[in-house]
Amino acid sequence: MDDRRGLLIILSSPSGAGKSTLARRLRDWDPEILFSVSATTRAARPGEVDGQDYHFMTEPQFRAEVSRGAMLEHAHVFGNFYGSPEGPVRSAIEAGRDVLFDIDWQGAQQIVNSALGQHTLSIFLLPPSIAELRRRLESRGQDDAATIAKRMNKSWDEISHWGGYDFVLVNDDLDATEAKLKTILTATRLRRSQQPGLTEHVRALQAEFEAL
Ligand code: ADP
Ligand code: 5GP
Repeated sequence: MDDRRGLLIILSSPSGAGKSTLARRLRDWDPEILFSVSATTRAARPGEVDGQDYHFMTEPQFRAEVSRGAMLEHAHVFGNFYGSPEGPVRSAIEAGRDVLFDIDWQGAQQIVNSALGQHTLSIFLLPPSIAELRRRLESRGQDDAATIAKRMNKSWDEISHWGGYDFVLVNDDLDATEAKLKTILTATRLRRSQQPGLTEHVRALQAEFEAL
């Protein structure tokens, strides 16, 4: 009865709203959650590790992966290609492990509309204000002014897709958002579609009932 199917947990938000921070916290809470390592054609930032933060690829390499059907979804974001390799996701969810995706709305839509759609949990993070979003992007200290400007310009585009998600959280207080995320995840793990053993259990209950 404990057997369960893994969830595809999708976290989206405008850049800087807190996806990576909250993804880290969720994984610290439950180390069994697998982080989907995306492929990207963008350059690695200082400190980023190939194979851990992203699979860094050239554009021809990326296109070849897409052509052979190895990506669950892919999209063009901020002038670069990004995609989620499918293989690790399928084996994880079949083994009952959840997989966490930090991807944009285009990728979220593709996964929700895929054959794995019924096993997704999609969550959108909103910043408390645009001024705070800018402050967070600047305080992260990872991007130059031009990159920050590009991300700020794109933030409304991303925010405009908030209505397509199962849950929407305003990431004001980090601890409070983390607590809400855990609640959502705990409840969604109990969705009927995530408990493949239920049919058999109900059959056993019926047999017991009939034998009364
Ligand atoms: P994203 O992955 O969505 O681009 P990050 O998780 O990198 O965003 O967060 C951007 C910056 O904002 C980081 O410096 C992070 O520590 C900070 N941050 C995230 N959530 C909060 C919050 N609720 N309150 C204050 N700062 C936050
Ligand atoms: P960054 O370059 O800051 O790491 O990511 C930029 C944007 O690309 C973020 O909105 C992030 O969620 C999105 N992203 C990262 N990986 C993927 C992916 O595999 N697929 C899609 N569709 N978006 C991704």
